[in-house]
Amino acid sequence: MDLLKEKIKNDGIVINENVLKVDNFLNHQVDTKLMDLIGKEFADYFKSKNITKVVTIESSGIAPAYAAALKLDVPLVIFKKQSSAILDTETTIQTPVHSFTKNTDYVLMASKKYLSENDNILIIDDFLANGQAALGAYRILKEAGSSVAGIGIVIEKSFQDGRKKLEDLGLDVYSLARVSKISSDGIEFLN
Ligand code: 5GP
Repeated sequence: MDLLKEKIKNDGIVINENVLKVDNFLNHQVDTKLMDLIGKEFADYFKSKNITKVVTIESSGIAPAYAAALKLDVPLVIFKKQSSAILDTETTIQTPVHSFTKNTDYVLMASKKYLSENDNILIIDDFLANGQAALGAYRILKEAGSSVAGIGIVIEKSFQDGRKKLEDLGLDVYSLARVSKISSDGIEFLN
């Protein structure tokens, strides 16, 4: 997606060779027109897959996931991050996830009432690094008995191994921008 790549090049801040900050348009301030185009791009790619719901992980995935869900005309379910497991395993599904940016573990949680074996889910997140967030969402969906139709990522860091882990599970990973290198000289893309 050329417009997104332009935005990353112009507004992305290199924190180090593994971390990119995009607070200006995705993670803090949100470029709503760009989100609309991102939603359309995801919807066009996944529209033949009979998606029943979009799932994301709070909080940075919410803007692109909302845009995609709106275009696909389906509900958005936001998986919650908790600092520790909550007791209610009757009504919730939980799984531990390692946070790439914070380098700590959190518990990802979803209510069973929003997921069923009739659901065919599209997972959307802002970044793909080592795949832990997407894999956590996948584990919850499998436990709920839902199908996973694919994974939509706004910015994939292709030099990390998240894509491989997800593809090894047979998942269709569609990334709008694939970053091959982050350095003080700039940001390079795969395609
Ligand atoms: P993963 O679970 O794939 O290792 O990392 C993905 C998650 O970590 C995303 O949900 C995203 O919030 C965060 N993340 C990973 N890499 C970056 C990055 O370079 N910049 C920002 N802002 N977030 C990142």
